[in-house]
Amino acid sequence: MKYPKALEELIASFKKFPGIGPKTAERLALHVLLGADQEDVKSLSSNLLKALEEVHPCKNCGILTDQDLCFVCKDYTRTKQLMILENNKDMISIEATGQYHGRYHILNGVISALNGVGPDDINLGSLKQRIKDEGITEVIISTNPTLDGEMTAYYINNLLKDELEVYRIGYGLPAGTNIEYANETTLIKALEGKRKM
Ligand SMILES: [Zn+2]
Repeated sequence: MKYPKALEELIASFKKFPGIGPKTAERLALHVLLGADQEDVKSLSSNLLKALEEVHPCKNCGILTDQDLCFVCKDYTRTKQLMILENNKDMISIEATGQYHGRYHILNGVISALNGVGPDDINLGSLKQRIKDEGITEVIISTNPTLDGEMTAYYINNLLKDELEVYRIGYGLPAGTNIEYANETTLIKALEGKRKM
């Protein structure tokens, strides 16, 4: 006994998302058909398409935006510091501290030997030129304190260290704790404790 084809396909679609195993995928798909308000399901479907159509990484820095340039790149009061982060969630966490007033460069990924992700697979291609064009004076590498995050920091430091001051965010964070899970006080300490690479 199998489910109808369209239902099997819906389960398969849910399974492709991070953290969703076969059981959860099945439960979600059944919920869509039987449990959820039909209007909610329709608006989920149209919100998915709308987000896909309208939101994309800023062409300059990689922050998600529905404009050509994101809110940070359009803000001329930002300092000439540049913070390099793995993802948009981390940028939201850093912004929430209110203690950082520079610009960002979002990698939208991390170099990972284990997952076969190389430097060309993340948002690094424009970094050097950007630093030149915008007169950046200082880079703070704030990739997460994981094996991949440290390898990525090491790679970027080698890429930039002859051209300007490169710092690593100072982690009061226990190893393996990602920026998005750190509280504000810890993040502010981490910003204050940056060290030269
Ligand atoms: Zn931007």
